[in-house]
Amino acid sequence: MEDYHILIVEDEEAILHYLKEALLLSGYQISAAQTLEEAKKILFCNPISTPDLILLDLNLPDGTGFSFCETICSKYQIPTIILTALDEDADIIRGLDLGADDYVTKPFTLAVLLSRIAAVIRRSKQTPKESDILRCQDITLNRKDISVTFQGNPIELTAGEYRLLEYLLINKNRTLTRDMLLSHLWDAEGKYVNDNTLTVMIKRLRSKFILESGQLIKTVRGIGYKLEDTYEN
Ligand code: CA
Repeated sequence: MEDYHILIVEDEEAILHYLKEALLLSGYQISAAQTLEEAKKILFCNPISTPDLILLDLNLPDGTGFSFCETICSKYQIPTIILTALDEDADIIRGLDLGADDYVTKPFTLAVLLSRIAAVIRRSKQTPKESDILRCQDITLNRKDISVTFQGNPIELTAGEYRLLEYLLINKNRTLTRDMLLSHLWDAEGKYVNDNTLTVMIKRLRSKFILESGQLIKTVRGIGYKLEDTYEN
């Protein structure tokens, strides 16, 4: 494995210690901070390198991870996973809306955390080159001629459904909040669609891509949706 550097921002001694040990064993380079102030010092005084990922606790002695996520992670484009005991949907949504790449709720299992970390790092290292062909499992979307096929068969979509699918494909394997989706969708008259319309659009899209093995567009309860590419997992 390459030497990826993870900055852990966590004030609880026991969790911090556990994370450090586990991630070191998995081959990551680690730096750790127990406050936002320490985290900033590490980022700007650069002891090792700019982190490839930040694991960010939300409740910290000198503030919340939200502000950090907004001002530091997003601004400097450092991939971030929120680690939170607050598994309330509103907090998760807020974090994702502020630019976090993923979240893990405490208590977590190490296997899940490691796979989320690997996925976010992998995604961040892909060149963001906008490709003309977007794929997820049996769905292929061609941006050149604005066409979509499923299992090789052409699929008719409305303009709105196409935009929704395109956005899901660009962000596949990532949880998108309803607000993120709503801010990318507008109707034929150029008006943003409302919540109900989004629900209907998702329903319609789902009815056009039916797999025996289950839904391609997963509902992330209380948060939003995720297009999952099981071929890549
Ligand atoms: Ca905490």
